[in-house]
Amino acid sequence: MDIEEFGDLLFHYPYRYFDRTQLNKVSSISKEGEYVQIVGTIVNILEEGVGRKKRLVATLYDDTGRIELVWFQGAQWMKKSLKENETYIVFGKAALFNGVFNIPHPEVDPWNTATAKAGMQPLYPTTEKLKSQGLTNRSFAKLTQVLFEKIRPADIPEVLPAQIINEYQLCDRYHAIKWIHFPDSETHMQAARHRLKWEELFASQLTIARLRQQHIIQQGWKFEKVGDHFNRFFKECLPFELTNAQKRVIKEIRVDTVTGKQMNRLLQGDVGSGKTIVAVMSMLLAIDNGFQACLMAPTEILAQQHFQSIRKMLDKMQIPVALLMGSTKGKERKDTLKGLAEGAIPIIIGTHALLEEKVQFKNIGLAVIDEQHRFGVGQRARLWTKNETPPHILVMTATPIPRTLAMTLYGDLDVSVIDELPPGRQEIKTIHRTDMSRPKVMEFIRSEIDKGRQSYIVYPLIEESEKMDYENLEAGYEQVKVFFPEHKYRIAIVHGRQETDLRERNMQRFVSGDAQLLVATTVIEVGVDVPNATIMLIESAERFGLSQMHQLRGRVGRGGEQSYCVLLTGNRLSEDSTLRIKTMTSITNGFTIAEQDLAMRGPGELYGTKQSGIIKFKLADIVADAAILEQARNATVQLIADDPALIKPDNQSLKSLLTKRTSQANWSKIS
Ligand code: ADP
Ligand code: MG
Repeated sequence: MDIEEFGDLLFHYPYRYFDRTQLNKVSSISKEGEYVQIVGTIVNILEEGVGRKKRLVATLYDDTGRIELVWFQGAQWMKKSLKENETYIVFGKAALFNGVFNIPHPEVDPWNTATAKAGMQPLYPTTEKLKSQGLTNRSFAKLTQVLFEKIRPADIPEVLPAQIINEYQLCDRYHAIKWIHFPDSETHMQAARHRLKWEELFASQLTIARLRQQHIIQQGWKFEKVGDHFNRFFKECLPFELTNAQKRVIKEIRVDTVTGKQMNRLLQGDVGSGKTIVAVMSMLLAIDNGFQACLMAPTEILAQQHFQSIRKMLDKMQIPVALLMGSTKGKERKDTLKGLAEGAIPIIIGTHALLEEKVQFKNIGLAVIDEQHRFGVGQRARLWTKNETPPHILVMTATPIPRTLAMTLYGDLDVSVIDELPPGRQEIKTIHRTDMSRPKVMEFIRSEIDKGRQSYIVYPLIEESEKMDYENLEAGYEQVKVFFPEHKYRIAIVHGRQETDLRERNMQRFVSGDAQLLVATTVIEVGVDVPNATIMLIESAERFGLSQMHQLRGRVGRGGEQSYCVLLTGNRLSEDSTLRIKTMTSITNGFTIAEQDLAMRGPGELYGTKQSGIIKFKLADIVADAAILEQARNATVQLIADDPALIKPDNQSLKSLLTKRTSQANWSKIS
């Protein structure tokens, strides 16, 4: 448990407390999962079952009834420590088995006058293995108690500057740690937890801020002027008026790139918010200053789409734009590589093929990365090694990261947001239907297709059961063919088990309009633009996460026609699924949906941050403690402005907060 010395015990916090004065009766237990504390007599201590089902069962009774206490692990140890016909106080979580309540693995203590009088008792995290050795949730309390008898306030010195303690009304560190283990009242317990959460979040904000400072020292190219290309494009070639959000973001990029430091900016904008034009104008800025620029997309189809649309936009300005992908071969490839190395190609669009060793730039000044989450951090870092001075990096994503999460991952200072859609967009109608209505839904799709539109039909893909999902998709495909007979309709199918070539070819059939229906797993999630597609049908929608459904929905509504997103589910939905479906049908704003997703699933499940283990706070929860996070961020900004190198005497102790959190280093650089 990472407890090696006594001092570590101080930071092994209780996960909850029980108040010895709050007692329940056996007959009052009313629902599963409820924590109960009962005083009663134990009788009938028996071992039941054989092999892996072996367990220890003891019956506890009070004046209202009886209930079974069950141990699956550590049975031997428990059996030795329990005595029949003695009175115990028992604490645990009620479980329901065959319609009868029991308490698995309860905490059990002999009931005597001392236990009766004790106040709030801490319960500590432990493991089954430790428990079976007798180191239970409560044993830690005994150890910590012994420790505290030897500790004086001076042994736990304050680390936060007095000014912060005052401004945010935090309790001192010694008392925070004392009270979190042994609170003498609910108020003190809350004060202690608040202070320690505050310290945790502040430590992480400060660490990010410091990393950012070191990083800012990284030299970058200076884009000194806004030149002819940018201006001419703005005046003559812009196909529409920029939204205010787009203008603001371009300005932010402009400010970053004149500092002489390397830019590392994350651009978030909902699907269809118009990120591409921001990329194009940033690239023009690079060209104006004599640099090359690249735009990297996660798939060949996306790269191709970008290539075509950007080439068209820049046609009039006679700026050469090239495309480089894995499938670019022969002379074309040779010419492109040559053009890049010599500087004849100012703008290159491509896939991760751009990262290969062979690709050398004359002077790359800006790299734009579209739909960031498809690339690994390592892959992105490779862009750095192309030249001695790294290019400015702009990462664009349509998967919004809620502000609280952005703050904990990056500090939010390098994040730009396009929070406004171009004018005149029709809202996508989102509808929930159950399986029973499938024929009607299919009829509706048919009527749209007969009007000349296209439709997506998407099936879930969950990695653990890939085979089953594939079977679902196949079955679904057969079913779709019943509604859309092959002699009359053209259907393309796309899934992760296909060879990349075939997949891209099938996808292309849909993009070109040849196929009217695309039956697919979630591989189409990101970025493709088929303005003629007006329906997104999501099968088994209850199995999709919120952000994922929102991404899928963003595939339609890209043309002038009214578009629809249909969520098909079974009849019976869990509470969570119901909430997700309801959120989808009532909310269209991607940021609101992302916040909701974060609140429902927690940060660990989202954005692949679980593996990296970076948002592991002992106490703080970035959703529930968003207000504290905001305070910690403000305090950090103020502190760094006042004492950037942390040299003031008052701030010396803060350095101890910084050391341990090296795992965040990767994330401090968006690129
Ligand atoms: P995304 O942010 O999803 O990448 P795109 O850049 O592909 O969005 O833009 C979506 C569509 O909106 C494109 O067809 C683009 O031409 C159009 N668009 C972008 N900005 C504007 C604007 N300011 N006014 C009108 N249409 C715009
Ligand atoms: Mg895009």
